[in-house]
Amino acid sequence: MRIDIATLFPDMCEAVLSESIVGRARKAGHLTVACHNIRDYTLDKHKRVDDIPYGGGRGMVMQADPIYRCWEAVCAEAAEKPHAIYLSPKGQVLTQQKALELSRMPRLFLLCGHYEGIDQRILDTIIDEEISIGDYVLTGGELPALVLTDAIARMCPGVLPESVCFEEESHFSGLLEYPHYTRPEIWHDQAVPAVLLSGHHKNIADWRFAQSLSVTKEKRPDLYECYIDKI
Ligand code: SAM
Repeated sequence: MRIDIATLFPDMCEAVLSESIVGRARKAGHLTVACHNIRDYTLDKHKRVDDIPYGGGRGMVMQADPIYRCWEAVCAEAAEKPHAIYLSPKGQVLTQQKALELSRMPRLFLLCGHYEGIDQRILDTIIDEEISIGDYVLTGGELPALVLTDAIARMCPGVLPESVCFEEESHFSGLLEYPHYTRPEIWHDQAVPAVLLSGHHKNIADWRFAQSLSVTKEKRPDLYECYIDKI
């Protein structure tokens, strides 16, 4: 899969995307991510990409034209039109299910806004959907684009050793994950649950499922109700 990120701060995105699991996945060729500086596409001699809002009011609005040129450049080297997402507090809030759906698409274009936002006409022209990372407002779309890229990348084939690595984690099945323990067996008078030392795989799986249910019921009763309703 390939993800193109249109941003005013490509170095900020690269710094994060070059590290850890996503950085290694990119180097290994499991995932291609390209960051495009929207400022490179403006025709303004001062490299401006924003202007004052029509109708008055505070702040600046990102102009449509540099973004459209950036989009055209990305499309020109794509076999098919990428699925275009605007990171926005007005979008649908990101879920594991949405990240999974997007991880199966061949190519994504992520548009990061800044200031008051983006000229509505570019959104109406190129954007397929708006995604929010939560009901709060950030200064720019870079962190949301990085969150979305990370959530998608770890479900792309080859990025994690096996699909169970993400399938057994919180949110995939609708439940939160069971608790984890590692050495030493006793730490500050607290022992690891005996079942985890038993070597009995069925009992361990049953214990983990029961823990998942109780953790979800306690921490996220909304998710728990939803899960119980579906079974
Ligand atoms: N004026 C906008 C509003 O009230 O909806 C907020 C603009 S915000 C200061 C600047 C940019 O940050 C947005 O264009 C968007 O790309 C990004 N952004 C802010 N909060 C976000 C969120 N919760 N999820 C996704 N993107 C967000």
